[in-house]
Amino acid sequence: MAEPTQPATVLSVLDLTPHVRQLVLRPKTKRILFQPGQWVSLKLPVGPKPPLNRAYSMADPSSPYGELTLVFDRVPGGLGSNYLYQLRSGDEVPLSGPYGNFLLPQPLDRELLLVARYTGLVPIRCLLKQMFFAKLQVPILLIAVAPAEDELLFHQELLTMAVQHHSFRYLPLMAPGGEAEAVEKALLMLKPLVEGQLAATPMLCGTKAFVRPLRAYLTEAGYDRKEVRVETYD
Ligand SMILES: Cc1cc2nc3c(=O)[nH]c(=O)nc-3n(C[C@H](O)[C@H](O)[C@H](O)COP(=O)(O)OP(=O)(O)OC[C@H]3O[C@@H](n4cnc5c(N)ncnc54)[C@H](O)[C@@H]3O)c2cc1C
Repeated sequence: MAEPTQPATVLSVLDLTPHVRQLVLRPKTKRILFQPGQWVSLKLPVGPKPPLNRAYSMADPSSPYGELTLVFDRVPGGLGSNYLYQLRSGDEVPLSGPYGNFLLPQPLDRELLLVARYTGLVPIRCLLKQMFFAKLQVPILLIAVAPAEDELLFHQELLTMAVQHHSFRYLPLMAPGGEAEAVEKALLMLKPLVEGQLAATPMLCGTKAFVRPLRAYLTEAGYDRKEVRVETYD
């Protein structure tokens, strides 16, 4: 983590769902060159021993202007996300990066099985945009689990992607009962897709309570642990 810390200006603030917000930031000193799937570390002036470091994945691939699009949910009582919720255009926040290895497999010669809960979709949305921009044609299946219908993140955009790209299938699911229900519902969908055929590379993102049971299932089904790419948020 030797990347230097620099201030970034908040360019815009937008609510995507009742509990999910997007911030567009522009690093002030040096452009951050990142790959889709990577994240930046925000240094927030809160908590008992500031700065409080919190990681946020980029939701959009890099742009010529160098801005970073971050999307996060407001965790009840969460120090970091609640601090970010009171930021306004023009405010500054220190950050460093990029970091992370939640990247597309190279070469990309197998199907992709993408599974995310809630804001776990953020890096996956960035990877999808990269793939469609680069006209990569591998079959992709996305299972996206949301805690409520109005919390389905990027829903219209993903529906449009599925119409425009025949290689992409989007399966949204609702699990209002939390992570345990999200795992249960994701497994119901995964099992018939995985059993007897380990054709796709799985990529999982969300909190540990969601990601770990799914990874355990996939390794039991025959995947090597390293073949299952994961990003955990907590
Ligand atoms: C590599 C990486 C990338 C990340 N990218 C994103 C991102 O793009 N968008 C995003 O919303 N968050 C992301 N996170 C999580 C983020 O860094 C914070 O942990 C999150 O915003 C909660 O911080 P907090 O201080 O508000 O809550 P804390 O006070 O730290 O409370 C965390 C508690 O809230 C629960 N929780 C509920 N929702 C989340 C959540 N989304 N993330 C973490 N814990 C949660 C956890 O189970 C945990 O018990 C990422 C984390 C990592 C490690």
